[in-house]
Amino acid sequence: MSYPTQPTASHFINGQYVEDTDGAPIEVIYPATGEVIATVHSATPAIIDAALDAARSAQAAWGAMTGTERGRILRRAADMMRAANHDLSVLETYDTGKPYQETSVVDATSGADALEYFGGMAATLTGEHIPLGEDWVYTRREPLGVCVGIGAWNYPTQIACWKGAPALACGNAMVFKPSEMTPLCALKVAEILHAAGLPEGLYNVIQGLGDVGAALVSDARVDKVSLTGSVPTGRKVYAAAAAGIKHVTMELGGKSPLIIFDDADLENAVSGAILGNFYSSGQVCSNGTRVFVHKAIKHTFLKRLSERLATAVIGDPMDPQTSFGPMVSERQMSIVLDYIAKGQAEGARLVFGGARMDREGFYVQPTVFADVHDDMIIARQEIFGPVMAVLDFDDEADVLARANDTEFGLAAGVFTCDLTRAHRIAAGFQAGTCYINTYNDAPVEAPFGGSKASGVGRENSKAAIEHYSQIKSVYVRMGDLEAPF
Ligand code: NAD
Repeated sequence: MSYPTQPTASHFINGQYVEDTDGAPIEVIYPATGEVIATVHSATPAIIDAALDAARSAQAAWGAMTGTERGRILRRAADMMRAANHDLSVLETYDTGKPYQETSVVDATSGADALEYFGGMAATLTGEHIPLGEDWVYTRREPLGVCVGIGAWNYPTQIACWKGAPALACGNAMVFKPSEMTPLCALKVAEILHAAGLPEGLYNVIQGLGDVGAALVSDARVDKVSLTGSVPTGRKVYAAAAAGIKHVTMELGGKSPLIIFDDADLENAVSGAILGNFYSSGQVCSNGTRVFVHKAIKHTFLKRLSERLATAVIGDPMDPQTSFGPMVSERQMSIVLDYIAKGQAEGARLVFGGARMDREGFYVQPTVFADVHDDMIIARQEIFGPVMAVLDFDDEADVLARANDTEFGLAAGVFTCDLTRAHRIAAGFQAGTCYINTYNDAPVEAPFGGSKASGVGRENSKAAIEHYSQIKSVYVRMGDLEAPF
């Protein structure tokens, strides 16, 4: 291993790397080879305490700074992150197995976008003046205090920044726990933030599994919890946060619909289906994995999809030509293979792929099932891998009802050249993030998040500010005060 993947220490607390080898070791595995590339230690109670104490003591002074001062540090961190993009992308590829072709354009870069966007916004965060005749109320937009961020393994750098940037812009401190599968890149985010001038204690990273996450969520020093993870984890974290009446953001899983009408531009629709199913080897929460294709174009769609999938460059994720990499872990690979077996057992027609690849690492072929029915397991459960389910339809109202017939509501997409139908369908979707003639774009300027079981709250955009700050009302009486006695 020529690239330095072993971090200086497992945790980053109060502006510096900290180790505590009493914590259980967590091996970091390069998914393309199965090789152990680093070992970190799970946070002990002493580490959890140190991180929360550091955050608690640093927050008040940070919250009292002007937004301009806070924003300047975040924008400097954004520039530093862009300058370090190559190294960060290589590390992200080792951590996740995602091809460098992807990590070099969507991971640290989207993290930098969030730091820049919220850095720019920090100075604009204000309250309002509410006139009441002679009296008036003014509001103060105040930080929540200490925010805990808990990450999933598919976009580790992005998640660390999507939570950290708005939290810090609003004057909060953060303790971030990355996924135990991908612990490396959040440490780099912490390093960069502090090198950019962030005062110590404001962005802390500690490692661990669900038990460390659970300890953070239930701690009385914590005011807000933002989780990116699965729905079952979301239920537990939401319940634990509710016990302490803490603010929450829940970015959870999905089984999103993508509807392709017979008047759609076929090449664009195939591109959307590929982006919405096979980017990051299908490990994207908002993926449109239920692809409803109008009967009139089903044959052509499947043919063109198969032709294009055959051109995927599957192999060494570090090779910039590689466009499809391994699953994050052996476990995730076997979960996906298990779903593929279920799809076959339920009678779905395998059109492409369907097997583990004959090479080292955790590679599963891009897989397409056709003739899938709404009640099949592969059409109902989130697989979180490169498995597309193609379902037929021929009626607009019917397909919209079927698209919405799910507990999830993260994303949804439609391909059609009929302008009014596109907007009618978008309005009818029960999902937080919808796409017309595209799929999976997630710019920092747009709100991102789920409805129904897919989540609570929104990340990115001005909407995120509402989830990292609170309003205090101050009533000002100008005249004398009357009382009943
Ligand atoms: P996961 O739910 O297994 O774990 C997510 C995080 O929660 C990890 O850091 C884990 O250690 C922690 N955790 C587990 N149990 C916990 C507990 N009881 N208390 C506190 N923390 C706990 O999810 P995953 O397998 O890492 O990620 C895949 C899932 O994440 C998929 O369902 C995917 O759709 C979802 N996801 C959602 C978004 C989004 O923005 N909506 C983005 C990426 C991934």
